[in-house]
Amino acid sequence: TEDPRKEGIASSIKVVPHVPKGGIMFQDITPLLLDPKVFKDTVDLFIERYTGKDISAVAGIEARGFIFGPPIALAIGAKFIPLRKPRKLPGEVISEEYVLEYGRDCLEMHVGAVQQGEHVLVVDDLIATGGTLCAAINLLERAGAKVVECACVIELRELKGRERLKDTPLYVLVESN
Ligand code: AMP
Repeated sequence: TEDPRKEGIASSIKVVPHVPKGGIMFQDITPLLLDPKVFKDTVDLFIERYTGKDISAVAGIEARGFIFGPPIALAIGAKFIPLRKPRKLPGEVISEEYVLEYGRDCLEMHVGAVQQGEHVLVVDDLIATGGTLCAAINLLERAGAKVVECACVIELRELKGRERLKDTPLYVLVESN
């Protein structure tokens, strides 16, 4: 890790084995949020990367993409678009279903949230299999947007989620196995 701030970020993430079920190494970002210096370093690293980059929208994935996405959007002068779990948004929505390890899930966005050709950054806390980010990219592209990059705090390298994103670049701050 080249930037010393990344070491502080990595050490403030608590790994909780077998949560929410056996075999999963849950990466808990709540200790990072409790340290204002480390929380700021996390957001600053993204802001430094995306300032001046022709991005007019930041799309955050429910729920932890709602923690990191808005401060980035405000700092770079972009709008914030919440990508939500089903039946949360009151207006007309566009939906994208995706397959999880067990069962299915779905992301929804309000129709009209993005304009044709708009450049969007997608933000979440973590990429595991990449299924969630892949669904977010599909949803935004179906709505006519261009996803210029996905940004996460943590990448679980072993699961090779990065490969599922195909042409969309992925930027992460720390890696874990
Ligand atoms: P995936 O679709 O498999 O890439 O999973 C990514 C989504 O699930 C993100 O929204 C994460 O917040 C959550 N997630 C998956 N695995 C973990 C993990 N080991 N620790 C914390 N969150 C996880």
